[in-house]
Amino acid sequence: MTSTEGEGLWCVVPAAGRGARFGADVPKQYQMLAGKPMLLRTIERLATHPRITGIVVAIAADDPHWAEIEAAALRTGVRNGEPGPTLQRPALRTATGGEQRADSVLAGLRALRGNIGDEDFVLVHDAARPCVRVDDISRLLDLAIPAGGGLLAAPLRDTLKRADGSGRVAATEPRDSRWRALTPQLFRYGELIAALESACAAGIDATDEAMAMERAGHRPLLVEGSEGNIKVTTPDDLALAAFILARQTE
Ligand code: C5P
Repeated sequence: MTSTEGEGLWCVVPAAGRGARFGADVPKQYQMLAGKPMLLRTIERLATHPRITGIVVAIAADDPHWAEIEAAALRTGVRNGEPGPTLQRPALRTATGGEQRADSVLAGLRALRGNIGDEDFVLVHDAARPCVRVDDISRLLDLAIPAGGGLLAAPLRDTLKRADGSGRVAATEPRDSRWRALTPQLFRYGELIAALESACAAGIDATDEAMAMERAGHRPLLVEGSEGNIKVTTPDDLALAAFILARQTE
């Protein structure tokens, strides 16, 4: 069976990071964002997409916070009074994440073995990107499935500098044709597992799925997505994410 128009899709959500750059005791995915933990917001957002029928969340082995999120996720799924699917409809599963993001994604993918075929497409979306727009996910599916796989991305708008060892500018890099990789990213299940396993075996830290796929000879499609799909990394980002969410519901 392959994923075609109208069929269900699984989404793997790596959420096993410790958020060292965020600098708080509680990992950033559990920080409160507009009254709910960020990970719950991300899950609820994904669950409102009509094509997503299953979500696998990769959590850290010693994670004490997940049980509460899972209970809340199973109760809710409707945002801001709007009717929407509940998480009883999309299946919710967990996997034990690993040392690097790619290890966590691989754990989530392996948890789906037997449920989806190698040719099926699977989404991967960062827990730390709670503001992803549902219509961006739709555009990714519409454009990247016929292209054999792709990712949401945003063209670089700032001038790009390369630093030398002392923090001074060594060079100004051309901005043309440079994109920032976002998530979700969408690839065929079998190809993605093979690409990530190969990168891990070679000791390469693939910081996104596309990087592993490129290394395996694929050419993922860049699908322009909203600049508001930020990755929350610092406390300032959390405030920005709250602002973006409020704007989206206006
Ligand atoms: O650290 P960074 O912000 O790049 O992480 C991106 C996403 O990958 C986050 O949702 C984080 O929880 C997840 N991650 C993970 N396992 C790791 C490291 C990061 O699931 N070992």
